[in-house]
Amino acid sequence: MSGYLHGLECTKCDAYYQGDTTRALCDCGSPLLVRYELEAIRKAVTPKDIACRLPSMWRYRELLPVRDDKAIVTMREGFTPLIPAERLAGELGIGEVYIKDEGTNPTGTFKARGASAAISRWKELGVTKFCQPTVGSGGHAWAAYGARAGVEIHTALPVDCPEIGWKGCSISGAHVYRVDGTVTDVFRIMKDGAERYGWLYAGALREPYRVEGKKTMGIEVAEQLGWELPDVIFYPTGGGVGIIGMWKVFDELEALGWISGRRPRMVSVQCTGGSVVKAFNNGKEECEACPDVPTIAPGIMVAKPFSDFLILRALYASKGWAVAVSDDEILHFMAWVGRHEGIFLSPEGAATVAGAHRMVQQGQLDRSHKVVFFNTATGLRYPHLIQGQPPIIPGSGNIDPA
Ligand SMILES: *Cc1c(COP(=O)(O)O)cnc(C)c1O
Repeated sequence: MSGYLHGLECTKCDAYYQGDTTRALCDCGSPLLVRYELEAIRKAVTPKDIACRLPSMWRYRELLPVRDDKAIVTMREGFTPLIPAERLAGELGIGEVYIKDEGTNPTGTFKARGASAAISRWKELGVTKFCQPTVGSGGHAWAAYGARAGVEIHTALPVDCPEIGWKGCSISGAHVYRVDGTVTDVFRIMKDGAERYGWLYAGALREPYRVEGKKTMGIEVAEQLGWELPDVIFYPTGGGVGIIGMWKVFDELEALGWISGRRPRMVSVQCTGGSVVKAFNNGKEECEACPDVPTIAPGIMVAKPFSDFLILRALYASKGWAVAVSDDEILHFMAWVGRHEGIFLSPEGAATVAGAHRMVQQGQLDRSHKVVFFNTATGLRYPHLIQGQPPIIPGSGNIDPA
């Protein structure tokens, strides 16, 4: 047996499941998190060793849950660029700004990280049938990695999500179902399918391995900034997997001695009406289900995240914030960043910029801060949001710029 996975720890009760198990949740119904033999990892590998490895999230192999290297299902996901954005920093009035561009991942979103880690580990454990509720990007990533692993993927999404969602799932041969209803309906339908047909229900934090893939975003930010963390991380929050994963891995990196105890403030950005923002503003430990509000940023449209208490814990522990932004603010910053930085943000990514803009206006952020924005997907997945039309010139005509 190799790899450094030690066991699975419950996030609510004191249950601990040592070694290899095919359980996805605790007996008490709560999410489980992977624990590693950190002391052994500390002896086995250093940041210097990692610097020489391939530019993919699997460079952090020791902190990922797979036992045997041969089980790894990869398309070189991760190690995405951390792009300095000076003009944007000037526009917002923030000292230093970086965009962590997850749009360069396979399938165009950071969901590739979770799918790579989870499908690798589950297949290693002998599990080969999965279902995934989605608004498009999660299903697409699981379909692609499922195809590569040769396992069965069932995915469902609301009919009014961008078409690239179901089309991406189709091209990878997944079983796709379009639901004439809300995201909440989709969750119910997939959960029911899982119970009936024995599929592994791979929703956010419903199994412990997806979050392991996503936590690598936090390791990369640290490595790319010279093993130091920024002052603030803005993250567009849906199921919360990214924020929970990054907060988890900062503990692991500190225990390994790879980073100091200086942590960033974690900021959840959601659309107007988002349940995490509401709970945070009321000082609550859990979310109340909010109505499914239609928005142009479907990745951050979750009525009540299953792991809401873990998102809120990370926000409180980091002295962070939660902020809600409107579709108009999102469109404004998509256009601004496209025009002045050349990066085609997803609406979810643009939401983080809009969130920071608000924090500056409220006096909570200024030129003394170093900030990272997560662009969780490429804007190329959202061509319907591009505004304006170029003129059409007849083939026999000429350009008249006036
Ligand atoms: C899934 C998704 C999110 C939300 O991710 P979580 O880590 O589950 O909060 C944000 N943006 C995009 C583009 C997504 O696909």
